[in-house]
Amino acid sequence: TTDCIFCQIADKKIPANIIYEDDLVIAFDDLQPKAPVHKLIIPRQHIATLNDLTPDNSQLIGHMTLVAAQLARELEVDASGYRVLLNCNKDGGQVVFHIHMHLLGGRSLTWPPG
Ligand code: AMP
Ligand code: ZN
Repeated sequence: TTDCIFCQIADKKIPANIIYEDDLVIAFDDLQPKAPVHKLIIPRQHIATLNDLTPDNSQLIGHMTLVAAQLARELEVDASGYRVLLNCNKDGGQVVFHIHMHLLGGRSLTWPPG
């Protein structure tokens, strides 16, 4: 949607350091990285939250996961380890309402998250 920051990144209307894109998804650097590797993988399609996913999106979410794993290999955090996650709504800490998969790595991540 026009007022969505991640739709605007997908449409190249606002800049981002895009590291991967295909017909379904775009991946780019998180603006405020929380780890040495912090990338976001988003669908081109606007989907506000995980709650809005439908069975029609099964292939899309699977593809996002495979892209995350491929990027982890390319960024050489696959062996050391990394975390892939989606935040949903207020308690999940979601602030941008266009679903995005975080890929975090390059340091030892604490568990559980805060
Ligand atoms: P979440 O809290 O899961 O909604 O995550 C939103 C993420 O988007 C945060 O990690 C932000 O640093 C990141 N972010 C917000 N705006 C931008 C932007 N214009 N370019 C890249 N990353 C962004
Ligand atoms: Zn959007």
